[in-house]
Amino acid sequence: MTQTATPHLETDLYIDGAWRPATGGARFDVLNPADETVIASVAAADIDDADAALDAAAAAMPDWAARPPRERAEILRRAFELMHAHKEDIARLITLENGKARADAMGETLYAAEFFRWFAEEAVRADGMLTPAPASGARIMVQHRPAGIAALVTPWNYPAAMGTRKIAPALAAGCPVIIKPAAETPLTMLALMPLLEEAGVPRGLVNVLPTRASGPLVDHIMHDPRVRVISFTGSTGVGRTLLRTAADQVLKPAMELGGNAPVVVFDDADLDTAVTGTMLAKMRNLGEACTAANRIYVHRDIAEDFTRRLTDAMAALTLGNGLEDGVDVGPLVNAATRDKVAELVEDALARGATLRLGGAVPDGKGFFYPPTVLAEVPPDALCQREEIFGPVAAIQTFSDTDDVVARANDTEYGLVAYVFSGDFRRGLQVCERLDYGMVGLNRGLVSDPAAPFGGMKQSGLGREGGHEGMLEFMETQYISAEW
Ligand code: NAD
Repeated sequence: MTQTATPHLETDLYIDGAWRPATGGARFDVLNPADETVIASVAAADIDDADAALDAAAAAMPDWAARPPRERAEILRRAFELMHAHKEDIARLITLENGKARADAMGETLYAAEFFRWFAEEAVRADGMLTPAPASGARIMVQHRPAGIAALVTPWNYPAAMGTRKIAPALAAGCPVIIKPAAETPLTMLALMPLLEEAGVPRGLVNVLPTRASGPLVDHIMHDPRVRVISFTGSTGVGRTLLRTAADQVLKPAMELGGNAPVVVFDDADLDTAVTGTMLAKMRNLGEACTAANRIYVHRDIAEDFTRRLTDAMAALTLGNGLEDGVDVGPLVNAATRDKVAELVEDALARGATLRLGGAVPDGKGFFYPPTVLAEVPPDALCQREEIFGPVAAIQTFSDTDDVVARANDTEYGLVAYVFSGDFRRGLQVCERLDYGMVGLNRGLVSDPAAPFGGMKQSGLGREGGHEGMLEFMETQYISAEW
């Protein structure tokens, strides 16, 4: 059954716990990538709206920061429960504006909700330290306190989770937030606001400012002296720009940027595990993920067997409108993303890669690109240097461990890598030689709210989730005391 009726949508700005149109009255359209129809016209925040959000956040901070952590925790826990209670509606909205198929959208919804549960648990564990100074006779006291207003900027590939991964730790730490969701997918974040209200989040603490003119709006917010944190998830290029802007006010930066994930499949790997794991790492979210497998290195002795099995698994996926039953793979988010994927495939073929599956843009409406497998991909193909961000599995072969480790590390990125080996010792040794913030060993999925998510090198700064996630929104204060 296809559910086509449009649900009730929030389309105004959310400032100080109230819905309002943009001061200048501007709006922009949000499209359904499956059929290119307009889902909604959303208010486009301008500078005056940013000022209103900053004032609201500043007014909300003292009370929130002073509340006992347990009180903050209980509100976050209710937010988790409410997201679960409304998971079908949230998942449906994610599919509508992002395109991803229903199972992916539900996976994202549950993952997004989990950050509220995890940080409800972390809110009461902001530990510090008290210790005698080695020589001075003083006591060294160290505590963490809320950093201040946090500016949050999120991408379109996970409209709910990339937001909750920042909102939950910020609130747990005692900080108000102003969030600017991606212009392609603002509706999901707006739809979460009534749930946060119902959970008990006070007005002014979370403000949502969609816009298409992100640069000037975010720049204005980051120059307000009341803002102390910029937490960004998106491309490395925009991350660099925001780091430069952050320098003006010496903001605390948390940057979750691009990736170019290698998958290394050794000849002793269990092939079922390796194919299932690679499918998960490649096709979760249609490949539109910073964690998506971008370069698949398979040992020469098993390359043909692995490629055949992976191709069969990719061929079994059904492409279509993500809301329809039986659809595994929806459209990409917009025409530009689809066209970029098509260009990368053409480039790889022109350089000598072999097409094993897919590879052609289908006719008709919607930004569809089919599951595609490329074998014998030359290392200099653009799709091995840049993020593919689409459902294209690009396979290379190797025969020597040192060589494959060097090739896997040969990128400016360092977000996540995946290793498949039946020999745990060998697998672990290779994991430790990979310059990546996260490594999946015999697993194609590493994201876990309880673990520190983040990258090395140009994949970012800081960590989200785990114990570290809340510290991104806190300042460390040391008091030298004598008594
Ligand atoms: P993007 O960098 O174009 O946009 C991300 C966000 O930044 C959006 O909200 C956008 O509107 C905003 N933005 C764009 N230009 C801006 C500017 N000049 N000033 C302020 N804000 C600006 O990225 P995208 O295309 O939306 O997302 C895809 C990228 O995100 C990929 O590179 C992917 O790897 C990365 N990503 C990283 C992670 C991670 O955790 N490391 C997670 C998801 C996505």
